[in-house]
Amino acid sequence: MNAALQPATAAAERCKSYYSATLNEETNYPTLQGQVSVDVVIIGGGFTGVASAVELAERGLKVAIVESNKIGWGATGRNGGQVTGSLSGDEAMRKQMRNSIGEEVDDFIWHLRWRGHDIIKNRVEKYGIQCDLKHGHLHAAMKPSHMDELKSAYEEAQRRGMGDQVSLLDRDDMRQHLGSELYLGAVKNTRNMHLHPLNLCIGEAKAAESLGALIFEHSEVLEIVHGANPAVITAHGRIDAKQVLLAGDVYHKLEPKKLKGKIFPAMGGIVTTKPLGELAKQLNPQDLAVYDCRFVLDYYRMTADGRLLFGGGANYSGRDSRDIAGELLPCIERTFPQLKGVQIDFQWSCAMGIVVNRIPQLGKLSDNVWYCQGYSGHGIATTHIMGEIMANALTGTLGHYDTFAACKHIKVPMGDIFGNPMLAAGMWYYQMMEKLR
Ligand SMILES: Cc1cc2nc3c(=O)[nH]c(=O)nc-3n(C[C@H](O)[C@H](O)[C@H](O)COP(=O)(O)OP(=O)(O)OC[C@H]3O[C@@H](n4cnc5c(N)ncnc54)[C@H](O)[C@@H]3O)c2cc1C
Repeated sequence: MNAALQPATAAAERCKSYYSATLNEETNYPTLQGQVSVDVVIIGGGFTGVASAVELAERGLKVAIVESNKIGWGATGRNGGQVTGSLSGDEAMRKQMRNSIGEEVDDFIWHLRWRGHDIIKNRVEKYGIQCDLKHGHLHAAMKPSHMDELKSAYEEAQRRGMGDQVSLLDRDDMRQHLGSELYLGAVKNTRNMHLHPLNLCIGEAKAAESLGALIFEHSEVLEIVHGANPAVITAHGRIDAKQVLLAGDVYHKLEPKKLKGKIFPAMGGIVTTKPLGELAKQLNPQDLAVYDCRFVLDYYRMTADGRLLFGGGANYSGRDSRDIAGELLPCIERTFPQLKGVQIDFQWSCAMGIVVNRIPQLGKLSDNVWYCQGYSGHGIATTHIMGEIMANALTGTLGHYDTFAACKHIKVPMGDIFGNPMLAAGMWYYQMMEKLR
C-alpha cells in the first residue's frame, strides 16, 4: 500500500451510551480485504449511507457500504431519536428553490417534510425492525412570542389538512401532558415520531444485507479514485464501482478541495437518567417527545425502559464538553424539579454537521461520484428523504436532486480554521436575538 494512505486514526468501537447498551444485536461485519466490484459503493454507515443502500438494493443494484468504525457509529447512533417534520433550512430552501420550481415551492417543501416519516414507517414494518417506534411530539413554548409562532404553525397544518393530527395546547392543557410548569403551551403533533435510532440503523443495514448489499466495518476510505471506473481505497482493499456515494457527513475528510469549508461540526450532548418507574408516567403520561422553541433548545423523551433521555445546547466551537451531565442536570431540574439530583446512568456526545444556510448539501464531485451531507441537527427524517433522492438520482431520475443541487452554499475559505469561530459568532448573535423575541 502507498505509505501516504494510512488511516488517520485507529478504527473506533461504539461510544458508551444508552443506545449502545440496549442494542438488539451488535454488528460484526468484516474489514474490507482485497478487491471487490459492485454497482455502487457508499462511504459511511450512518443513516445517509444505509438508507441510500436500502433504496438502491431494493431497485436491484449491487451495493457496498464501507464504514470507518461501526454501522451507526456517528450521529446516527447517538442522537435524540426525534423524527420531526422539519427540514431545518425550510426558509432558506423556500427562497432559493423559488428560482428553480416557482410557486410550487411551498407545496414541495410541505410534502417533503413528511416523506421521511413514511419511508421510516414503511421500512420498519416491511423488515420488522424493532426500534421502539412511537408517535407524538410536543413543540413547547417558553414565552408569549413562541406561542404566536406555534399558533401560525398550527394554522398552517390545519390549512394543509392535518386535522386532528395537530392540536394547540394552552397552559392548562399542558398539565395533562407533562409534569412540568415550564411551558405556556405547545403544538401537539401525532404524526411525528420517536425511536431508538441505533436499532433502526442496524435494522436497516440488515435489510440492505438481505437484499445482497456488502457491508464492511473498520474500513476507512482513504481515497476516492475518479474516472470512467471509479473506486474507493482502504488500507487493505479496494472497491471498484460504476458510481460512488460519499455519505460521511461531518466525520469525513475526503475531497477537501471541493468540500472543505462547507460543513462544520457542532458538538451535542445527551444524558439518560436511571429508570424512573412510576414517576416516568407522571412526568410524561402520553410518552411524547418534547422540544422547545428556542434556537438552541432542550429536547427529551422517555426511553422504552422509562429513563428520561435529555439533550440540550450545542457547542459550536466544535470542541467536546468535558462534563455533559454537569451541564444538562440543571436543565433537567428546571424542567422537572421532581428530578432534583437524579442519578445519571449514561452521558455521551457527538458531532453534528452544520451547514451555514441549513439546506442539506448534495452534489457531484465528478461524473459518477456523488455526495450528500449536512442536516444541521434534523437528520433522522431528512437522511431518509435524501437516501431516496440520491437513489433516484443514481438510477437516472434527477428531479428532486437537481432542485437541491441547484441551491447555493457558502464555502468558508480556510474553513478548518475560521469555520467554527464564525459559526460560534453566528450562534451567539441568534441567541442574543432570541432574548429579544
Ligand atoms: C447529539 C445529537 C442529537 C441529535 N438529535 C437528533 C434528533 O433528535 N432528531 C433528528 O432528526 N436529528 C438529530 N440529530 C442529527 C442526526 O443524528 C444526523 O443528522 C444524522 O444522523 C446524520 O447521519 P449521517 O449518516 O449523514 O452521518 P453520521 O451518522 O455521522 O455517519 C457518518 C458515518 O460515516 C463514517 N465515515 C466518515 N468518514 C469515513 C471514511 N473516510 N470512510 C468510511 N466511513 C467514514 C463515520 O464513521 C460515520 O459512521 C442529532 C445529532 C446529534 C449529534
